[in-house]
Amino acid sequence: MPITNWAGNVTFGAARVHRPRTLDELRRVVAAAPRVRALGSGHSFSLVADTSHDLVRLDGLPPAMEIDAARSTVAVAAGLRYAEVAEHLHRAGYALANMASLPHISVAGSCATGTHGSGDSRRCLAAAVVALQLVGPGGDLAELSREHDPGVFPGAVVALGALGVVTRLTLEIEPAFDVAQRVRLDVPLEEVAERFDEVYGAAYSVSTFTDWRGGRAEVWLKHRLDEVRDGTATSGGTALADGTAIHGGTALADGTVVDGGAVVGDGWSESGWAGGRAAERPVHPVPGMSPESCTQQLGVPGPWHERLPHFRPEFVPGAGEELQSEYYLPREAAGKAFEAIREIGALVAPVLHVSEVRTVCGDDLWLSPAYGRDTVTLHFTWIRDAAAVMPALAAVEERLMPLGARPHWGKLTTARPRQISAMYERAAEFGRLARDLDPSGKFRNSYVDALFPA
Ligand SMILES: Cc1cc2nc3c(=O)[nH]c(=O)nc-3n(C[C@H](O)[C@H](O)[C@H](O)COP(=O)(O)OP(=O)(O)OC[C@H]3O[C@@H](n4cnc5c(N)ncnc54)[C@H](O)[C@@H]3O)c2cc1C
Repeated sequence: MPITNWAGNVTFGAARVHRPRTLDELRRVVAAAPRVRALGSGHSFSLVADTSHDLVRLDGLPPAMEIDAARSTVAVAAGLRYAEVAEHLHRAGYALANMASLPHISVAGSCATGTHGSGDSRRCLAAAVVALQLVGPGGDLAELSREHDPGVFPGAVVALGALGVVTRLTLEIEPAFDVAQRVRLDVPLEEVAERFDEVYGAAYSVSTFTDWRGGRAEVWLKHRLDEVRDGTATSGGTALADGTAIHGGTALADGTVVDGGAVVGDGWSESGWAGGRAAERPVHPVPGMSPESCTQQLGVPGPWHERLPHFRPEFVPGAGEELQSEYYLPREAAGKAFEAIREIGALVAPVLHVSEVRTVCGDDLWLSPAYGRDTVTLHFTWIRDAAAVMPALAAVEERLMPLGARPHWGKLTTARPRQISAMYERAAEFGRLARDLDPSGKFRNSYVDALFPA
């Protein structure tokens, strides 16, 4: 029976689907296949994972996770999802610096497409990768690392599955930390655009949700608590014994902090920008939807992996039927991008569940959409009616592409493949790397061929 992606908008054309149980079995599958693609958790909306030949799922392989405390890394089996890795790390006292909105996505698939969360100093998830193990076209095993292969490694992490089947990724980790998440409602969109640096600098991770038409936004702020107070253990929300407030808040005797008029319990204080009004109950990014599936809000401190994603791992996420597109722009284009999309708010809003604006720190990964530049991303969760969405999506792209937008590899776009690859200064080098590692084009598909002709 044909299989589909998570959203159901792609039915994979694969002649055969494999789910090997061992590395050796995977190597035999790859060696025997004329053309083969790996499938992660299938959360992409584009045809990036598709093939008419062999598709291989890695979630049947042993779910290995090995922490190297001396190197501050964890080596994880490629088929694992972020939720599984995060839970394991947290139990051992470690953390990842960043997560996407959804913890259900696979590590390998997310890194292959440049998936990101939000934060002025948060790079895309792939930037945490320091080493990869891949199965090459002959079924051979190869290792690449940032340390030993500096010339090619930055080309091999965000690679759209075109260099081989990744079987293990080694990720940077750090000591576990706590996060408190708060939401500001009814923020004027002009304020977000005009005070962009202040808004996005107000927390470790910041997201703005809007429909572009109403002129209002919801701003989600994820505060990393060891940055806003003095490091006292916080899981469960213990107030600081001495009531100290960091960042200029006024401390009260019981450890509660008054900061800019907002009273924040649990011994930590919001600082800097705090526009609109504080949400007094939990919210979902899509207006009107139940917040039950969302991570804890209202400033309650808790572990990093239960706050950095917007959605809880135990719930099926999202707005049900949806399509997505997203654009990575130079950060300095944020004001123009806001203006451009607000102008077409009346066209966009009727086919939109919600739009999200995030920031991503630039990196050196050749095909990362944040390559070489600090970035603002404009994301659109559309209703699942492609015909109705297309005019709005085309209008969005007509306005954002001239501002230097690079479309998300895993989401929908109407941009021509060559127009997209022209946005990447290392595209030709990536093409050469793909030909070196995979001379016969075993790991290519139509999506990759159109972007980087053999
Ligand atoms: C509800 C929802 C929320 C999302 N939130 C975010 C978000 O917050 N930020 C963001 O940037 N994106 C987001 N996305 C997009 C998503 O992160 C990307 O599409 C990502 O690629 C999904 O990972 P996956 O494992 O499902 O990959 P898949 O869609 O299965 O595959 C993507 C690519 O990875 C390749 N690949 C997978 N496994 C391997 C492997 N082992 N070896 C080699 N190549 C491999 C595939 O061949 C394919 O090219 C979201 C998507 C959904 C549906």
